[in-house]
Amino acid sequence: MKIDIQKLVRKNILNLKPYSSARDEFEGENGIFLDANENPFGELNRYPDPYQRKIRQKLSTINQISDENIFLGNGSDEVIDLAFRIFCEPGKDKVLTFSPTYGMYEVSANINDVELINLNLNDDFQIDLETLKPYLYDENLKIIFICSPNNPTGNSIKNIEYILENFNGIIFIDEAYIDFSPEQSFRNKIENFPNLIVSQTFSKAWGMASVRVGIAYASEEIIKFYNKVKPPYNISQLNQNAILNALNDENINQVSENNKLILNEKKILIESLKELKLVKKIFPSDANFVLIEVENADEIYKKLVEENVIVRNRNSVIKNCLRITVGSPQENLKLMETLKSIN
Ligand SMILES: *Cc1c(COP(=O)(O)O)cnc(C)c1O
Repeated sequence: MKIDIQKLVRKNILNLKPYSSARDEFEGENGIFLDANENPFGELNRYPDPYQRKIRQKLSTINQISDENIFLGNGSDEVIDLAFRIFCEPGKDKVLTFSPTYGMYEVSANINDVELINLNLNDDFQIDLETLKPYLYDENLKIIFICSPNNPTGNSIKNIEYILENFNGIIFIDEAYIDFSPEQSFRNKIENFPNLIVSQTFSKAWGMASVRVGIAYASEEIIKFYNKVKPPYNISQLNQNAILNALNDENINQVSENNKLILNEKKILIESLKELKLVKKIFPSDANFVLIEVENADEIYKKLVEENVIVRNRNSVIKNCLRITVGSPQENLKLMETLKSIN
């Protein structure tokens, strides 16, 4: 199956003449820079590298993927939004999601005036391939979003290979929680599938949500369109510094230790939750959170808030379900004490 990415891209984006910044025209670091109307005084006076080359180089070495296959966004939210801008003609094209899932796909679809087809996951929160099949041949369906491990259910999604083999549009796999999961990332499949975008983030396993940096791994061709469409300086120098500082061996080991601790805490939390009468069901999780079904989610949510314990009430999307992020050992103890007293 030969996929022509150009054919999937919007005409106006194909023809777009991108903004050419002063930093595009001269890449060296030494010189007297009188080209960008910057202020000669101050510490943060210069525009940052628009292509974040140092970070992409480090990620390339760490993950053994060419830096030409890496794009950095102002959070994954920008990675998602740019996919709409590159591929979806407003008022004409469509995207597809499997619900319940992360809310930003729908918000981005609405902002971009793109129709969203929403298929329900089955009772095990898996994709029902038979329901999906007819949609795979819709020429106006441009992007299928798959969140795995899925938020807010926590499980990994199966049958992604089938979709990769059978869909000629863009497949966007959101792997925000992959570092907590025993499953393999799809990042290494971008060589085989030029229509695959794998997004990851520094917000969860890396513990850097406030820095706002997300990653897209994709074919060189797709990455070029991302660079064409993004705002020129989408990641500030402060944020680039924070990420660069985090990408050293010592910190990477620390992050990996922290994540082991979180996964161990998750085990302890699940065991304690099992003992509560008010907990009806605990759904399997490959992420740093657990979804539980309770007797009365609204009421339990409110009582927890009264005790300053905030969980995510998902009652509106999955009846009587709460999503609980695994916190520090003390935070989890406080949660369990409070739930026990409600129980
Ligand atoms: C938290 C989360 C993200 C992260 O978004 P950022 O903009 O990178 O902070 C992305 N996708 C899913 C499914 C998430 O739950």
